[in-house]
Amino acid sequence: MDKRDFLKASGAFVAGSMLTRLAAGEQQGEARTNWSGNYKYSSERLHVPETVAEVQEVVRSCSKVKALGARHSFNGVADSTGDQISLKHFDQMALDRKSRTVTVGAGVTYGRLAPYLDSNGYALHNLASLPHISVIGACETGTHGSGNKNGNLSTAVTAMEIVKADGDLITLSRERDGERFQGTVVALGGLGVTTKVTIAVEPTYSMKQVVYENLPLNELETHFDEIFSSGYSVSLFSDWQNHRATQVWIKSRVDRGSSSEPRTKFFGATLATRKLHPLAGHSAENCTEQMGIPGPWYERLPHFRMNFTPSSGAELQSEYFVPREKGYQAILAVERLRDHITPHLFISEFRTIDADDLWISPCYKRPAMTIHFTWKPEWASVRKLLPMIEEQLAPFDARPHWAKLFTIAPSRLKAQYEKLPDYQELLKSYDPSGKFRNEFINTNIFGG
Ligand SMILES: Cc1cc2nc3c(=O)[nH]c(=O)nc-3n(C[C@H](O)[C@H](O)[C@H](O)COP(=O)(O)OP(=O)(O)OC[C@H]3O[C@@H](n4cnc5c(N)ncnc54)[C@H](O)[C@@H]3O)c2cc1C
Repeated sequence: MDKRDFLKASGAFVAGSMLTRLAAGEQQGEARTNWSGNYKYSSERLHVPETVAEVQEVVRSCSKVKALGARHSFNGVADSTGDQISLKHFDQMALDRKSRTVTVGAGVTYGRLAPYLDSNGYALHNLASLPHISVIGACETGTHGSGNKNGNLSTAVTAMEIVKADGDLITLSRERDGERFQGTVVALGGLGVTTKVTIAVEPTYSMKQVVYENLPLNELETHFDEIFSSGYSVSLFSDWQNHRATQVWIKSRVDRGSSSEPRTKFFGATLATRKLHPLAGHSAENCTEQMGIPGPWYERLPHFRMNFTPSSGAELQSEYFVPREKGYQAILAVERLRDHITPHLFISEFRTIDADDLWISPCYKRPAMTIHFTWKPEWASVRKLLPMIEEQLAPFDARPHWAKLFTIAPSRLKAQYEKLPDYQELLKSYDPSGKFRNEFINTNIFGG
């Protein structure tokens, strides 16, 4: 069967117009996986349209479809039993100096956007640990960096252009759509296929990063706020052994008066004298510059550099958001499981994020501290550990990261999100037939 016949037979032929573009390799029925390889997409086809009109045609022609970003989620949040659609060709970026916003196509990654903004004198308020993810894919799952006063990345979104289930193109904005807009940004791809997103920017700034080794964790009992507010963005790494954080990464803004030499001791931790990777035994070459050397914001806020493999590669991730004021107690609760956790762990990380108003954001109305796990690719063991960790974190009303691995029951999720019923209604009104609903949304949003 030649390509055209195949597309016709597979239902991907759009009557009366053009062939939708399918990803290379699609015709051979190659298995497609997420970035880390732990999740195999069950969707039959991946469309890669080049224009909004093509996106509209794909959406109209499919009964089930889901947008796929840079494939960095660890679960089925981007999967579909029907088709998937990648907007990787939507790579336009337009800065509006007057409104201090930038509008980017859905294919744009933070790694592309950041240097563009910086070269034009602008910056974002924060970044995740890696720049490889797409702006829209990150915002749809509430992806975050660290910093007591920094909301997650989706808090910067001011407008979105979306192709709805009926193929119509709509624009929603924070200014015009008020409360409803709070339900559309962190939305797990459930409202439609976003073609463009507008985000707030600010004047560019320089940062520097220092790393300390071996912070006794009991310092958090009395100095939690001082430690997490010691920089613009602070991350603690731990392997859960010896009641200590193996590393503390402090990222400071040079424009906010952090030009003095770093002290050699930090709450019992010692200033590192060489560049470090958070994972023991991994080359620090993959990491952003440390040792207090000033540089552009986008080369300090992420832990990992753009042209290098972030983190470990073959790995799994889980992360839980707890109320910040209970952060230390939550760490102590998980620490009880340390001898179960450590053998399967690459590293854990603790970060803080400001509260926001986005309905299903894990930081909804709640300043958070997160407990993150980068696991070895040992799903059989990790799957047994997650319920044990979640039980320890239940008294803290832990909310899971939507894009990582968790086993929290839908009924518990429901209790965590007071706006879940509003979000369900929003999904029903935008997508009455459930075209963009997948197993992840059916289970976690409509289950329980
Ligand atoms: C090494 C590594 C490090 C990470 N570090 C962090 C971190 O520091 N902080 C953090 O919070 N998370 C982190 N993550 C998780 C990551 O940020 C999320 O998985 C994020 O959602 C990935 O974005 P993506 O572009 O890969 O989107 P995908 O994983 O492909 O998709 C994510 C969601 O976005 C939706 N989507 C994508 N494109 C569109 C579109 N055009 N329209 C509508 N919906 C769309 C999908 O349907 C899906 O629901 C990390 C992941 C990895 C692998």
